[in-house]
Amino acid sequence: MHNVLILIYHCIDNGNRSSEDFADPFYTVNEKGFREQMELISKLKLRVIKLDDLICSILDRKPLQQDSLVITFDDGYKSDFEIAAPALKEFNLHATFFITTNNVQSETVWNKLTEMVKNGFSLGSHTLSHHYLTKLNPVELREELCGSKTIIEQKTGQSVNHLSLPGGRYNKKVIKAAEECGYTSVLTTDVGLNNHLSDTRKLKRWSVKRDTALPEFKRMVQFDSFELFKKVSTSVALRNIKNVIGDETYTRLKSRIVRSK
Ligand SMILES: [Zn+2]
Repeated sequence: MHNVLILIYHCIDNGNRSSEDFADPFYTVNEKGFREQMELISKLKLRVIKLDDLICSILDRKPLQQDSLVITFDDGYKSDFEIAAPALKEFNLHATFFITTNNVQSETVWNKLTEMVKNGFSLGSHTLSHHYLTKLNPVELREELCGSKTIIEQKTGQSVNHLSLPGGRYNKKVIKAAEECGYTSVLTTDVGLNNHLSDTRKLKRWSVKRDTALPEFKRMVQFDSFELFKKVSTSVALRNIKNVIGDETYTRLKSRIVRSK
């Protein structure tokens, strides 16, 4: 059975981060590293498919032809169109960009996002405000999910079918609300692989981080089972820690660890 690894990127750092102060340094990959990773995917002739292709294979219960990658970006940083999209275009790689609509602060940025759609990239929703969806009441939840979908569709003319969950937080209510708002897929931050038997409402991904070295990246995109095992076990351990100590304490401790590096 062939698998799909969905990569998550956030901000790409070109050394001038003044305009992207809200970016989490832990998840910010530098431009040189990002380009090396895209070049590696291209050199190794790894198959990069569209998120829509994975969804079709799941809905049709039709196995994939070979192991494949899907590239995604969360949060809607300016680096999406300033750095990532040009590099992806150069290596002829597709990606889906999940936009937090409140982060889009000008018509100029919406024009840039529309241009990305015209260049063949896809947009999805990462909600309006990036609040953890599990903490919201039903009205707020609907507004975050349906509101962001409508805004992106109206501004760019592209239909929005995919949702990426802020902080990867979800429960049954979140999944149900996403379905009711018309999303065909929901992307979590649970680590793992997907295939044609996966649940489109709980797709697994893997975050490329600031300290992800190229050899480690190479093992992941080549579906090295030991590397995958390590990543999945770390992620399960972190999820358990979050459940025990709570989201707020976890976020505070994580930022202390990043600062002390
Ligand atoms: Zn996010």
